[in-house]
Amino acid sequence: MHRRFLRQFLTRFLLQSVEKSFQSWLLSTWHGHWRMAVKMSLRTLLLVTLLVHVVVGHAGRASGSGMLTYSFDDGLLSVHQVALPILQSHNQVGTVNVVLDEVLSNLPNRLHTDHLFDLESKGWEICSHSITHPHFSKIPQTYGDEILVEWTRTSGMSHTFQCSYGYDELPFVLEDGQTLTSKTSIFEVEALPGSYYFDNENNLVYVHTMSQDDPSFHAMRSDSVERELEWSKLGLNDLGVAVQNFVVPYGEWNADRALSARNYYNSVACGGPTPNNPLPISNLWHLCKRVIKTDTSVDEVKDWIEQYVLEDETWLILTFHAVGNEVGWDSWPESNLEELSAWVESNGIMAVTHQQGLELGSTLIPMCECILTPTTTPTEIPRGEALVFQAAITNNTDQSGRVLFGSKVTTPSLQQIGWIFGPVSVYLSSHGSPSGYVSHTIPTTAPPGHYTYHGYVGTYGLGVIDECQFDFTVIDSGGNNCTACHG
Ligand SMILES: [Zn+2]
Repeated sequence: MHRRFLRQFLTRFLLQSVEKSFQSWLLSTWHGHWRMAVKMSLRTLLLVTLLVHVVVGHAGRASGSGMLTYSFDDGLLSVHQVALPILQSHNQVGTVNVVLDEVLSNLPNRLHTDHLFDLESKGWEICSHSITHPHFSKIPQTYGDEILVEWTRTSGMSHTFQCSYGYDELPFVLEDGQTLTSKTSIFEVEALPGSYYFDNENNLVYVHTMSQDDPSFHAMRSDSVERELEWSKLGLNDLGVAVQNFVVPYGEWNADRALSARNYYNSVACGGPTPNNPLPISNLWHLCKRVIKTDTSVDEVKDWIEQYVLEDETWLILTFHAVGNEVGWDSWPESNLEELSAWVESNGIMAVTHQQGLELGSTLIPMCECILTPTTTPTEIPRGEALVFQAAITNNTDQSGRVLFGSKVTTPSLQQIGWIFGPVSVYLSSHGSPSGYVSHTIPTTAPPGHYTYHGYVGTYGLGVIDECQFDFTVIDSGGNNCTACHG
């Protein structure tokens, strides 16, 4: 226990020191205080070395100790009303996994957009838990499997057409991308343009199109797993909610669905096969979680945490549903969550969101490249003004993880100065390509002339993986390229 606290403390302290140290180094090198710069660089090197030992040195671990996640399925209102204030009072955050259609509904006991914004503003994460919460084994798997064809007019009806459908669930029907209204009989469908009825005993779909014609004239589609994955993320993003991870409804998951999820998410969580996740994370496309039922006792949960988080130093994701009331399902008493949360706090256990867990528990990336794009061309920068460029790093592996990015500069007299930015730790999702803008104010004492800016990506273990660069010219503050004017 003491070893774990010490490691956490050291990590935090060293990270802060490295940052400060690099800042001083940057200032001292630009201003030509070379002795200071050398001193700072040695100190930085020492700190980085220590940091490597502390953070990754122990048996190749990416994270210094085990982690715990409070993950709430289905987006029930009690998460905001009961769980949020409890966790907040113990300085902890959670993750809520919402169903898009329910967020958009006017159901009274669900979380809606404003609740999600409030949770996000308090450090919580919102994950997608699909559009409609279907059984993934009971609907089409891909967009290609969705197409509804071979329509015939239903006998005795003027506007109703039917086709067969080979699955047990039909969450919705789309006519040229528009959702039709769900009805419960053929007669209701006949009466309402733009509606459908699914007879799940005979596997038949009945449709009355919006334009009251033959559905064969339109693109008629059902739902699919692929659509549930992609649309739920896009729909939540459209509401302004930042969604990066997925939680599987009913735990119905397999390798093909995981392959599809890689296009949209950083990770997927699902029940089983093990109760916990090793660190570094071995399978981002099936993070295991442990479900808490109404009759799960606080002592049982504490036992799991002692075993998986404190002793094994792995990542335990606890899944809850409702908390503290009768609305919803598998509701856990409010007093249980209060007792657990206080115990977690007093034991100094790290409570992370899904995304934080990924970032702390990921492996280092061996293959990636960087690109630097200056925002002004030609890149002539007067002294005292800002050099701005975009830095992008591309991950060429299907793993997610972290790399370091830092930069140096070569002066007109061919001296290399650096690091002038970073190294900072950057999180890369599988085949991800994050980018950001970096700005440096050119010191008024910088000699005019041609410079080269160098960016580097690498890891502590592998060293420099890729270098990228661009040239720029520092000119006199007058605005003209005035090196000749002094002559
Ligand atoms: Zn669910």
